[in-house]
Amino acid sequence: MANARDRTEVTVVGAGPAGAAAAIVLARAGVDVVMLDRARFPREKVCGDGLIPDAFAALTRLGVIDQVRAEACTLAGARFVAPGGADVDVAFDVLTLPRRRLDQLLVEAARSAGARALEGVTVEGPLERSGRVVGVRGHGTGHTGALEIESRVTILATGAASRILETFRVLRWRRPHALALRGYFRTMNAGLESIIFSYERRLLPGYAWVFPVGDGVANVGVIRFLGRRGARRVNLQDDLRRFLSESPVARQLLAVAEPLGPAKGAPVRTGLRGSRWWRPGLLLAGEAVGASYAASGEGIGKALETGCEAGRVALEALAAETPAEIDRILADYPGRIRERCGDIHRAYRVAERWVRFPQVVDLVARRANADRRVREALEAVVREQAEASRVVSFPNLVRLALAPIFASADRAASRGASAA
Ligand SMILES: Cc1cc2nc3c(=O)[nH]c(=O)nc-3n(C[C@H](O)[C@H](O)[C@H](O)COP(=O)(O)OP(=O)(O)OC[C@H]3O[C@@H](n4cnc5c(N)ncnc54)[C@H](O)[C@@H]3O)c2cc1C
Repeated sequence: MANARDRTEVTVVGAGPAGAAAAIVLARAGVDVVMLDRARFPREKVCGDGLIPDAFAALTRLGVIDQVRAEACTLAGARFVAPGGADVDVAFDVLTLPRRRLDQLLVEAARSAGARALEGVTVEGPLERSGRVVGVRGHGTGHTGALEIESRVTILATGAASRILETFRVLRWRRPHALALRGYFRTMNAGLESIIFSYERRLLPGYAWVFPVGDGVANVGVIRFLGRRGARRVNLQDDLRRFLSESPVARQLLAVAEPLGPAKGAPVRTGLRGSRWWRPGLLLAGEAVGASYAASGEGIGKALETGCEAGRVALEALAAETPAEIDRILADYPGRIRERCGDIHRAYRVAERWVRFPQVVDLVARRANADRRVREALEAVVREQAEASRVVSFPNLVRLALAPIFASADRAASRGASAA
């Protein structure tokens, strides 16, 4: 346990995927790192529990993918159900593992790498000197009491909660970009082999999901994107109830499902928006920096990626001698994040603008079923093997919409030519 006053090279606040990834990178490089979380692990995290390809890549680099695969439920891909009822199956590698277990595995990996992981410690705000963050102050549960930890670099990876971002003076938008709700259900449906995204007309630009997590249990939820700066009001409990009782998808998949406890909600910060990414002495990672995708809300992969990048930048900064030199290195972090994932985030933000229109979602589903090239382009985006911005763009959507018209004109022309 840390003393009431402690000193370390790097303090990481938050032991979710972003914080744990940063701690693993730093501890493996031999850095003295303290990772703090207000929760005690294993702890629950309201999530869909779905791991998509960007998460595999990061988990592989962190050396924990084999453990995750051994415990996770492996699925064949995703089924996207459009508002008009058409569905598209996209084959790709998907895993689901409840966050209670995934996050515990990551905390254990950070500990085995040498990080001091302190649980049950709530950080209240920064320690500051001359406008720089030089550590954190907080309190532990039980006998630990008040706590101050000084460090050369601090990494804030506290997820979507806005209050802590405010106390570190990095918050730009208080409201989250999305709200989501999930419940676990016991289901008798043995045919659940894909994760299902159902674009219910009344939820657009959000959706409902059914993700099997193994042992006859499904994670079922809804997400609503709230518009710029979280303007829209929503009732997610009602949305979930209506999805379960009215949607043909839910009635087919969850006909004999029983809830395992109440559904729980949480905010989601998306699109690399809503907070500053650094300030002198401090880096942000994961949902604290809005690293979840717009339009989808998936963020475990990008939390891991930004956590790793924050860890690497902090590591480079520790080689500097003066605070000013450290800050010059920390200042490169936003550029490095933009380079890594700016493009894909831009594409998801464009997608969010378009999926609010049911006609667009129906059109994409119809074209993906009719044209192999369209489906392959979608698959490449989902697998993160293609530059998403090339596929999800306004010109491409127009091309998609006009393709059947051109195709029928071509057919008419060739019929005319053969008749002549
Ligand atoms: C309903 C729902 C469904 C989702 N489904 C998916 C999905 O299927 N796939 C996917 O990829 N993403 C999904 N997401 C998004 C995903 O949950 C987040 O992107 C991810 O958890 C972000 O990781 P993080 O490490 O940044 O933050 P978190 O996982 O939120 O971790 C932050 C940690 O910081 C700790 N903390 C916070 N404040 C303090 C403090 N003051 N002091 C000390 N500790 C603190 C918390 O206890 C927590 O452990 C979903 C989100 C929601 C809400």
